[in-house]
Amino acid sequence: MSSFPEIDLDDRWIRSHRAPKNQVDELLPYAFLVEEECTASGAIESVATLFLTNKECPFRCLMCDLWKNTTDERVQPGSIPAQIAYALARLPPSKHIKLYNSGNFFDTKAIPPEDYQAIASLLDPFETVIVECHPKLINDRSLTFRDMIKGKLEVAIGLETAHPEVLEKLNKSMSLDDFSQSVRYLNDHNIRSRAFILLKPPFLTEQEGVHWAKRTLDFAFDAGVGCCVVIPTRAGNGAMDVLETGGFFSKPSLDSLEEVLDYGIALGRGRVFADVWDLEIFSDCPECLDARKKRLESINLHQELLPQISCDCRSTGDFQRR
Ligand code: SF4
Ligand SMILES: [Zn+2]
Repeated sequence: MSSFPEIDLDDRWIRSHRAPKNQVDELLPYAFLVEEECTASGAIESVATLFLTNKECPFRCLMCDLWKNTTDERVQPGSIPAQIAYALARLPPSKHIKLYNSGNFFDTKAIPPEDYQAIASLLDPFETVIVECHPKLINDRSLTFRDMIKGKLEVAIGLETAHPEVLEKLNKSMSLDDFSQSVRYLNDHNIRSRAFILLKPPFLTEQEGVHWAKRTLDFAFDAGVGCCVVIPTRAGNGAMDVLETGGFFSKPSLDSLEEVLDYGIALGRGRVFADVWDLEIFSDCPECLDARKKRLESINLHQELLPQISCDCRSTGDFQRR
């Protein structure tokens, strides 16, 4: 394990390395798209993802860059329903929807509870509604919202890593017990959950990063989640770039992402997805990048293992090792 820096990686330090936020409009989602996903039933169906503009998350996780597209103040009641209506009017129909708000859907300072009913009405056509939330903000408001929507509610939670010391250093204000308790609470109340898992957070070597991503998949499924998303850790938020320069972080390799996805699929305990956004930054070989990206996308969609892509960039025989 790499050593930890001497300094406190606290809110103040993390914020001090930030660049200015992007300009956002509280009446517009900052992005929206439709993509195919293997859904809980095993069918491949369209899922709309809306990235809602709202007040910055109250937590200051070391690796987070979601604050870039947030406001400093709570948005006006009516703005979130307006954003959802705006995106839905411009997207093709889909059966499922993700409302990702760069923070916590059940944070009353982010999504005004007085908007829940208007939001729920806009969500009538969807069979599944997926929101994101930190365990400390999952509570009876989640149940209130569950009862307002017609579809099935699913909550995505950033588990990040099951490595207890690294999790603490991520400044997430969350213990592994907090995560497990929230998943249990959601399961007990007929709400699904999914976990976001970081591949190779700071302070870990490549090998440790792979090891702990696998242990984190085990931990998430033991806790009772139905789905895990493995996200290769990136720099780019200021704090992570300082850690990278100081030798406390380096981005994971595409090989590692493949190994962890293969492991998760082979477990057969629930859906496992690899985040393939910006995949080129994790690849050193332009020759095989497209084929490897297509392979990961296909595994994501079908939840079935595929043979490794062979390329000269892999050491001899290495591509056959799994
Ligand atoms: S809880 Fe989520 S949105 Fe909030 S700072 Fe942490 S990673 Fe970012
Ligand atoms: Zn290659």
